Amino acid sequence: VTTILVIEDSESQRGEIREALRSACLFDRIIEARDGIDGLRMMLAESPDLVLCDLEMPGLDGEKLLRMSRKDADAEHPTPFIVLTAVTDPARRAQLLQQGASDTISKPFHAAELIARVALHLELVRTQRELIQKNQELERLSRTDALTGLANRRQIDERLERECRRSQRYGSPFAIVLADIDDFKTFNDVHGHLVGDQVLVGVAGTMHDMVRDTDCIGRFGGEEFIVILSNNDRDGAEVFAERWRRSVERVRVPVEGGAIVSTTISIGIACWSPEIATPSPLLRRADEALYTAKAGGRNQVCVYSKVGAIKDEDSSESSS
Ligand SMILES: [Mg+2]
Repeated sequence: VTTILVIEDSESQRGEIREALRSACLFDRIIEARDGIDGLRMMLAESPDLVLCDLEMPGLDGEKLLRMSRKDADAEHPTPFIVLTAVTDPARRAQLLQQGASDTISKPFHAAELIARVALHLELVRTQRELIQKNQELERLSRTDALTGLANRRQIDERLERECRRSQRYGSPFAIVLADIDDFKTFNDVHGHLVGDQVLVGVAGTMHDMVRDTDCIGRFGGEEFIVILSNNDRDGAEVFAERWRRSVERVRVPVEGGAIVSTTISIGIACWSPEIATPSPLLRRADEALYTAKAGGRNQVCVYSKVGAIKDEDSSESSS
């Protein structure tokens, strides 16, 4: 829906503008303000796609309105602001453009010129918004793992850096939970990579309901996943990891021939402590704990502690 806002104190001129634009089918919706105050209110409340504003108005005039609208302009939702004016002085017009006007149109206006300029600026802003959207999509894709939709390594690294800085400054703890799918290579060899991918997607799917918005879940590498638990200590991380381990046990992936396969994960936990200034020592600790979980028979959770990776209570279930 294309909405055009016309701010013009003369009722007859508002009517002429409306008729000209209507004849060219340039809007789905036109809203009209009879003074600057009303115009400002509508600009904020209706977020129009284009503003046509008279320069000469009593009270809040077009120039003041232009300055106000450019000051809190929304970078993600650019709105062309076209000034209608009887001023013929080129220097004065140039000044309006410098202040952020998208264009100026002479009054009394010529319908064909008005239509052409409005159409031009609507088209410009449409392509501009498309570009902004595409850039945002690219930005999102560059930070996302294509297969699972989770954060990719780049996003995880950024997040870890941020968490470390935050914890250094405020002393708020956080924990990382590193999980690795058990015997994934054998699994791929037996069932093929497509089933392997489905298992990765299945494991990724178990995490969505378990984390808070403030947490970060990602695919760390091939069959490794990571969860960064903000404002969480060892106890919280252990409870989370155990729940996660169990929910992965329940994942079922159908394979060719009607069979259904399941999988398990081993988990290593490392908690931030004040001597940790960068992500790498924390990741090393989680890795060490993960190794201990694997060595202890897989499908279990281990927490790194200062005296070495101490194995947690074993799960009763056998590993697959
Ligand atoms: Mg006027």
